[in-house]
Amino acid sequence: MSLTGHLLARIAQDGPLSVADYMTECLLHPTHGYYTTRDPLGVQGDFITAPEISQMFGELVGLSLAQSWLDQGHPDHIVLVELGPGRGTLMADILRATRNVPGFHDAAEILLLEASPTLRGIQAQTLQDHSPKWIDTVADLPDAPLFLVANEFFDALPIRQFLRDGNGWRERLIGIEDGELAFGLGPRAPQVALKDRLADTKDGDLIELCAAAIPIMTVIAGHIGTYGGAGLIVDYGDWHSLGDTLQALKNHEPTDPLTTPGHADLTAHLDFEPLALAARAAGCAHSRLTAQGVFLDRLGITTRAQALARPLEESERNTLIAAHRRLTHPEEMGNLFKVLGLYPTYAAPPPGLEP
Ligand code: SAH
Repeated sequence: MSLTGHLLARIAQDGPLSVADYMTECLLHPTHGYYTTRDPLGVQGDFITAPEISQMFGELVGLSLAQSWLDQGHPDHIVLVELGPGRGTLMADILRATRNVPGFHDAAEILLLEASPTLRGIQAQTLQDHSPKWIDTVADLPDAPLFLVANEFFDALPIRQFLRDGNGWRERLIGIEDGELAFGLGPRAPQVALKDRLADTKDGDLIELCAAAIPIMTVIAGHIGTYGGAGLIVDYGDWHSLGDTLQALKNHEPTDPLTTPGHADLTAHLDFEPLALAARAAGCAHSRLTAQGVFLDRLGITTRAQALARPLEESERNTLIAAHRRLTHPEEMGNLFKVLGLYPTYAAPPPGLEP
């Protein structure tokens, strides 16, 4: 049975699905899920991420984390973690860039949180010289200083959507209309988790809630606050989100999120404020939310690009210049993507970020 068939049968039996349940089925269904069945990244795939655009991204992220490790007295056993490592490119670039930081590789146990068996296989190949281990949940993180990166991980977590109706909310649901999947609205109900949003929304506004992100953030921030370490959360989004940001991408083009379930990537903009509040509540400090372009500039991406460009032929050099622009320019990824840094309350933020 196709995923559409499975979803229609599930809705016919149990009633409409929340957007979160729909995203989970589309992305992670064991046999039809988007991530479980394919490698979605790169020119051949449906979307491209910063580390797949250029090695410079991972190199600078790696040096920022390694500098935090040095600043915190270079503890001799740490875990170096990536959430949602895709093809393993980012972690490979981090490891190559930090090869010459004395003691860093010896101290680091590499752990990858990945739900997709297909992508785990690709990560194992990319990182075969570094013997990474995989974990299924952040609850499996050991009690040790945690140095972590998550690029475009949180945006893949399922969100629920709510439409403001008076002083209550109606949840956006996916049901069946004329035999096909269709959006609808649930009954009006108060939502405890949304009571603070009555102040900054009006009738008819749509807001999104990513409940799955909070427990993950609480665990990560608790580890960094307690054992030391640093975290770099990079994603597209803003401090507060407003409006429908559910997006389906197929072959690098936006598509209707309901027409090809399991065959298109589904994401939503990340709402950073609830994550920052969860980090603080867990006893961890967080940086100012910083545009990716500013973060990479402060870490010296232009100097790095110049060094890489020197030996290149003209066409390769143009590709590198385009990659630099794509990662940093405010009209490309530079402003759309933001970085939130996590660090212990007694330490400085990771380089590239401000308290
Ligand atoms: N960080 C990579 C890939 C981003 S794509 C890069 O920058 O290129 C999102 C990644 O998160 C994929 O590896 C996907 O399989 C993984 N992922 C999505 N939802 C997940 C979940 N609930 N648990 C673990 N991994 C998940």
